[in-house]
Amino acid sequence: MARSEGVIEPSRRGRVRFLPHGLRKEMYEEVLRLYSQGLGYTRIIRKLRARFGVTVSRSTISYWVRGVRTPYYVRRPPAERVEAYRAALAMHAEGLGCKMITRELRRDGYPVGLSTVKDWVAGRSSPYGPEPPELPIPPPRPTMNRPRIMELVPSPELAYVMGAVLGDGSVFSTKITLKAKDIDFVAEFAHNLSVVLQRPVKVSRYRGFYVCQSRSKPLSGLLRKPAKIDKLRKYVEHCERCMAAFIRSFADSEASFDAGGWLQIFNTDLQLLLYVKILLAKLSIDSTGPYRRPRDVLVDRTGKVYLRRKDVYRIYIRRASLQQYAVVVGFTIRRKQRKLERYLRRRKCRYRQPPPPQLSYHYIISSRYGAAGI
Ligand SMILES: [Zn+2]
Repeated sequence: MARSEGVIEPSRRGRVRFLPHGLRKEMYEEVLRLYSQGLGYTRIIRKLRARFGVTVSRSTISYWVRGVRTPYYVRRPPAERVEAYRAALAMHAEGLGCKMITRELRRDGYPVGLSTVKDWVAGRSSPYGPEPPELPIPPPRPTMNRPRIMELVPSPELAYVMGAVLGDGSVFSTKITLKAKDIDFVAEFAHNLSVVLQRPVKVSRYRGFYVCQSRSKPLSGLLRKPAKIDKLRKYVEHCERCMAAFIRSFADSEASFDAGGWLQIFNTDLQLLLYVKILLAKLSIDSTGPYRRPRDVLVDRTGKVYLRRKDVYRIYIRRASLQQYAVVVGFTIRRKQRKLERYLRRRKCRYRQPPPPQLSYHYIISSRYGAAGI
């Protein structure tokens, strides 16, 4: 019988329409193992092709990974076979022996053998196929059908993610994206996001940018722009560390510091900027503004020219508060942080260097040439 639960395309070398069942089970286990290691579908397909010489379709892998199908159960066995199976079990319950049962079934037109009936009666097999074995691998990932339970809990990591997304980040549907040129910023973001989501997060390169992208329903709902400050409040204002983390990532994307000692934070969302100002005050950092800057043409640090389509608002950190800012908030982006430190040193401010950001193996830099953890 041709099994329907795994469409296998012909490989490059030989035409294989249906795989031997044992091989399919082996590949199924390998797919779950690779997936649990954080590999994407494309790389799983590549690895399977290298090891088994067979190309498995993305949809098959998706079915396996989501636990919708396995190579073990037969979902719709032939109706006749099921009838014979039920009749056999009923007769066995009445006390008939296997030989008698086989004879009865054959007389009724079911072509079954004695060994099959013995297996059925002993529970070794059924028309539905055997139970999947206990595998030394994690269960398939929960998905839309079996949603993962995730509740957002206030933490500095979550606050950092929020500040970054409301700054440079974007939300489309459930997809959250941060695209920036500074690797230290994107890496820190990816690390914090992976802590919040409790799963690895990927960072890829795209035309000189580093891009971190992931999906999360609760997070994307919270972070869609314009910012819904009332909803953010209970996470951001949880404690001083959370507030500082929120401002740090927001400033990583939306702030600039120049040698004259001007630290400005800007955004097109006036309400959001007013909120940042309140948070700064809570951390004993004085600021002025917001000031409006009308739409115009601007040039970034690489010399690229942009047309600003919206009015931009900005606030300035007062110079007297720069040291407090550097100690309590600071920048993840070393380029900005170093500038600030240099300024403070020149001013002979006593400056205590905060610990460097902790980076971990939670995210993966991937490119077409393979992947490397950082
Ligand atoms: Zn907190």
